[in-house]
Amino acid sequence: MKVIISLTLLLIAAPLQAKLNVFACEPEWQALVQAIGGEHVNTYSATTAYQDPHHIEARPSLIAKTRRADLLVCTGAELEIGWLPLLLRKSGNADVQASELGYFLAASHVERIEVPVALDRSQGDVHASGNPHVSWDPYRLQTIAKALSKRLQVIDPSNASSYQQKLKQFNQRWTAAIMRWEAMTENLAGKKVIVYHKNWSYLLKWLGVEVIGDLEPKPGLPPTSKHLSHLLNVTRDNAPDAILIANYQDDKGAQWLSDKTGIPVIHLPFTVGGSDQAIDLFSLYDEVLSLLIKGNG
Ligand SMILES: [Zn+2]
Repeated sequence: MKVIISLTLLLIAAPLQAKLNVFACEPEWQALVQAIGGEHVNTYSATTAYQDPHHIEARPSLIAKTRRADLLVCTGAELEIGWLPLLLRKSGNADVQASELGYFLAASHVERIEVPVALDRSQGDVHASGNPHVSWDPYRLQTIAKALSKRLQVIDPSNASSYQQKLKQFNQRWTAAIMRWEAMTENLAGKKVIVYHKNWSYLLKWLGVEVIGDLEPKPGLPPTSKHLSHLLNVTRDNAPDAILIANYQDDKGAQWLSDKTGIPVIHLPFTVGGSDQAIDLFSLYDEVLSLLIKGNG
């Protein structure tokens, strides 16, 4: 009897610490939350690496996950404008609404490139608030990691020191990785590519690779035959070294252009889970950079 009572007291005195439920819109943010949240977080990603995060259906299962979330971590800059507002509204979860601490948009914490001077939404531009694909600049990613860690510390103050420690470890590893990546990609500077969508802009800017064309006539609009023949002319005057395609994008247009010109197509995982090797942010960067080096011979 005595043993049972002590055990009961023990359970009351030290209840199992509940983990934070984190709803990430994309796998790269899920991976970042796992890296800097560790054992204190349960994570879920609304999308996989094989989906286009611009175009997702606000399914009932996603609404249910949003309802249970303590923290929502998304890209922002209007990337999820077609589905996230609906999830938030239908979830009825007051903690993760736009003005709350449980709402974290990565792109809001860094400067964005390619902000349109004059916006014409009628043309279907999905990058109205500048380029949202910020996870591909390793320095911006570090800034986002710091802001996200601070947010975790505020929401879950009892584990604040652990979050600080994890951020420190992540930063040390990430800084070392940046040095390694910059050394291994030195020869990519000055190369020229055609991309499908402007989702590699931050990466290519970092590497000093020039983009001479997009298969999409406007961000978010699929390639047209008129636009593809225009690109064919562009490549005659200014031959690129490769055409880049993310694993979730339709490669028909890229393949057509490649067949006409002999320019190689490089298929890349855009985010964590986009290939067998890309299991976290480190291995994702490692793989994409290796594939770029290999593809550019
Ligand atoms: Zn985009």
